[in-house]
Amino acid sequence: MMDIIFIAPPAAGKGTISDYLVNKYGYKHLSTGDLLRNMAKEDSPLGHEVAKRMKKGELIDDEIIFAIIKDKIEYLHGQPFILDGIPRNQKQAEYLSKLFVEKNILNYVVINITISIDLLKMRITGRRLCPQCQKSYNIYFENFKPHEENKCDICHGNLITREDDTLETFQVRYQSYLQETKLLLEYYQSKNLLYQVDANQTETDILKAIEAIIKED
Ligand code: AMP
Repeated sequence: MMDIIFIAPPAAGKGTISDYLVNKYGYKHLSTGDLLRNMAKEDSPLGHEVAKRMKKGELIDDEIIFAIIKDKIEYLHGQPFILDGIPRNQKQAEYLSKLFVEKNILNYVVINITISIDLLKMRITGRRLCPQCQKSYNIYFENFKPHEENKCDICHGNLITREDDTLETFQVRYQSYLQETKLLLEYYQSKNLLYQVDANQTETDILKAIEAIIKED
């Protein structure tokens, strides 16, 4: 199985796709957003700084990101992995390329997930999360609505909206995403590592397209 770097705007469905690949193929899902959200809960100067920046939709310093990801990659011991949320800029891409050579990680693809902005806005503003069991819902999509309004189907916890799931934060994140990914896509295209998957299609078709890519070779 190929290791995967996902490049996708916020709420494009990387989480759902990753869960599927984790369960079916034993991938390890490394999301810098999740790792940083955990860090932001820590009662320390670093934790507070990370929380403040994330709330505003700003990127966290590269040096912090490098330390986190290096540590996680070192503990994989050959298990296939999905990188989600990194790289966000050219410097992070170059860091990863160097790290992969160092760790003898040679068989990977970069998958760019494209999706319409209107669909993204619905996914962001409709997203609800159970703080107890982490299950996520969306109030705008029939298949993803909770059975009972604002209650988790599984553990009956009260659903919450993630603090950075507002239209304002989305606009900041989306603009910086477009700006930063332009160069990233060129970088990976020039290395012949780049694949595109259209996420405006059904979930089954998206997963099929991804499986065709990771099973190549
Ligand atoms: P995500 O869940 O990937 O959308 O990330 C949520 C937030 O975490 C972002 O808005 C950034 O503040 C921060 N973040 C996640 N990954 C990175 C990264 N690779 N570099 C810098 N900041 C990041």
